[in-house]
Amino acid sequence: MNQSLEALTQEDFIMVQDDSNYRSTFVEKIPLSPISKYVLKLDYISQEKFFDNYIMSTRTTGFLAEVLNFKKRKSDIIIFDLAFSKQIHPNLDDFLCTLYHHEGHHAKETFEDPKLINYPILSDILHFFLNHPLSIMYEKSAKKFPSYKRYINSEIRAFENQIKNINSKNSSDYVERLQECLKLFKKELELL
Ligand SMILES: [Zn+2]
Repeated sequence: MNQSLEALTQEDFIMVQDDSNYRSTFVEKIPLSPISKYVLKLDYISQEKFFDNYIMSTRTTGFLAEVLNFKKRKSDIIIFDLAFSKQIHPNLDDFLCTLYHHEGHHAKETFEDPKLINYPILSDILHFFLNHPLSIMYEKSAKKFPSYKRYINSEIRAFENQIKNINSKNSSDYVERLQECLKLFKKELELL
């Protein structure tokens, strides 16, 4: 672990959990080194109504590059307010596990073989520009697209990667939730 990673403390994390004013400064201080090969930058976006369900999100720009399956493109990771929820990430190590081992894993696959990811792009656009009910409607129809199965599989791999990388500092609530999420995605895959 490098020095700058140690510079972020549990106390810093508790502070930003309690006070959203420090979140963008906190995100600027997060070391990219463990994932810098695949990630260009981290962004903090304060919550909007239609972001309610987002914790973090991996974004790779360029619609054409997406369609043409360009490799070696770095992603941005967006961190939403929900990532600072005490229920979602009880401690700093839980937060970093999601960042480095879940979103970082999506970024790694996007870099090495974007075919593996192939996010339902339209669904993302709807999430960004339309209100919630419509995007939920789209989510239902999105299940008919082949990209949905790839998306579910990419989530399964990301959760498995997280579970592989849990350490003794991760909270038991967090680890339990990861296992539940993995189970849910595997069940979803069986239903397709
Ligand atoms: Zn994911």
